[in-house]
Amino acid sequence: MTDHSSLHGSWSRFSLCVWLLITAAVFGCATSSPHITGLPARHSVKADQLLVMTDFKMTEDDPLILELKELREEVSQTLDVPMENRRVVVYLFSNENDYATYMNGAYPDLPPRRAFFIGSPAELAVYAFNGNQVRVDLRHEYTHGLLHAGLKAVPLWLDEGIAEYFEVTGRDPQRVNVEHAQRLSTAVQNGWRPDLRRLESLEDVAEMHRLDYQESWAWVHFLLHESPDTQMLLINYLRDLRENPDPGSLADRIEAEMPYASERLLSYVSGFFMPHATAASL
Ligand SMILES: [Zn+2]
Repeated sequence: MTDHSSLHGSWSRFSLCVWLLITAAVFGCATSSPHITGLPARHSVKADQLLVMTDFKMTEDDPLILELKELREEVSQTLDVPMENRRVVVYLFSNENDYATYMNGAYPDLPPRRAFFIGSPAELAVYAFNGNQVRVDLRHEYTHGLLHAGLKAVPLWLDEGIAEYFEVTGRDPQRVNVEHAQRLSTAVQNGWRPDLRRLESLEDVAEMHRLDYQESWAWVHFLLHESPDTQMLLINYLRDLRENPDPGSLADRIEAEMPYASERLLSYVSGFFMPHATAASL
């Protein structure tokens, strides 16, 4: 995420956000920041723990609202993360210009991105605008909100990997992010190899580059789809994160329980575009 190209730039859907957790101390300052002005406030729609604020009319049966309601259940069922009541507020701007103006004023240090999730002790907030990528953007950011509502903490790479996983729209049970799969496939041909420990060492979203998002997505996809055992490994880790913000390294657990995990991931990624494999579901 070091590219600071414009909102219209070449950063497409995988670089949707900067995840930012504001600490209690910083939040103390944030209360007097210019959050109040410029936020969409004319209309609100509530759905479960979701609250969408807009300046344009939106109803409870809007397809976007229904999709996010469904997403909440999908995330909970897939990951066994409890459905919490903690509110996730989506500030959905009418257009890109209003959104960019607000974000530049309220968060001048953040790079331009199409959408953000910003979590603080007081509020789990999503900022986005009603553009042609809004579905994907909100699926991604709302997933961050759901994770942070249900867990004590989420390692950065895992947070992004899971958000990338659930941003995929449609009914494909394989949930293949075609762009990620294609780019990883090319990377493998060029000698790229997975390294979960390196991903785990990334603590700042600014350190996460395009390939890191793709690798994060690949590990999550691999763990959820490779076998019931790998799925349970991830679910158990997330279960620990419900109570313990620092349950240790997932890479350690994978290494202990899955011999040759990196090699298996590599072969898994390479198989996405095998003619006999998942091509039909892409
Ligand atoms: Zn994200």
